[in-house]
Amino acid sequence: MSFFSGLRLMNRWTFYRNTRRLVLLAALCISSTFHIGVSADSENQGMDQLGSALLQKHKLLSDKNDITVFYSASENKQRAIEIRNLLEEAIQFYQTSLAIDHRIDVAVLNQADWKTLVNERIPYGMPHIVGPKDRQVAVLPANDQGVVTVGAIHMKEYLPKEDANTLASYGMSFEEGASTYTDIIAIHELGHSYAQAYGIKPLSAWSGEFLASFFAYAFLQEKHPKLAKVFEIYAYQLNVNAPGPTDRSLLRLEKLYAGVGADDYVWYQGMFVHLVVELYKQKELDVLREFKSIFGGQSDRIAGPPKTESDEKIRLRLDQEFDRLSSISPFAKTWRSRHFVSTDLKE
Ligand SMILES: [Zn+2]
Repeated sequence: MSFFSGLRLMNRWTFYRNTRRLVLLAALCISSTFHIGVSADSENQGMDQLGSALLQKHKLLSDKNDITVFYSASENKQRAIEIRNLLEEAIQFYQTSLAIDHRIDVAVLNQADWKTLVNERIPYGMPHIVGPKDRQVAVLPANDQGVVTVGAIHMKEYLPKEDANTLASYGMSFEEGASTYTDIIAIHELGHSYAQAYGIKPLSAWSGEFLASFFAYAFLQEKHPKLAKVFEIYAYQLNVNAPGPTDRSLLRLEKLYAGVGADDYVWYQGMFVHLVVELYKQKELDVLREFKSIFGGQSDRIAGPPKTESDEKIRLRLDQEFDRLSSISPFAKTWRSRHFVSTDLKE
């Protein structure tokens, strides 16, 4: 479509782009250090403040998995219950399937609490995790006014017809799907923790993001296949049909990470979900087992920080990583060529 064919559309596009920029800011902060880009001391201080503030909130306890879900107000209880249930299932699933013994608490916050308790650089509604490794809290929006939901809704024009039909067959409106997508991204955030707890050490920013999405998708595909499809539609199908970046190299992502720009970063994340979907089809959870055997090791790194390496070293690292990934599936290289060929393989 033409974005500038009228004032109304232009305003809409401006709003959309601004929303995406907010998403970028949070994504950058969360992914680069996972602790909103502040020093370790102030992180822990922030966590203590959050922790003591949360003790004053309403609480839902889990008798299954020792997790606690905090929520702002009684009208948020239903959503808190749904998120708790999903989280309990995910924990149970990864205990049984991969023997990952990992706990996490959750806070479901309205705008007022978000403003008080969350770092001001993270816009309302961006799922993220705070706190030290052994005491993490995933922070989620309590309503549909958050940036992920609102941002997805503004991409509606890129929804393929068959995916619109799929959502209709689920009895789910596009807007409802966008709301659900926010919860799914929360599981992606948990996936970063799972990857770390499972002992996978990603070599690159892109593979750290891929793994987090794989943990989320594999669980959903096993337990909630319709939600797995919703994840694929909103992360991949919407983005692969949008204009996308001019420079699509993984080298660029490794160098700049979320600094590639808001729209581009969202596009990269969507392409990673494409690899997730295809590798899951081929090998299901063996992907994670094989990833661990190839890239195992202890690491404090949850997602890859921006690199200060030379371009040549980054290219070498990416090539070596893809050579090793080929033993999991040759599709990894096909996927790389399909989406990122513009400069990656030619520079
Ligand atoms: Zn991530």
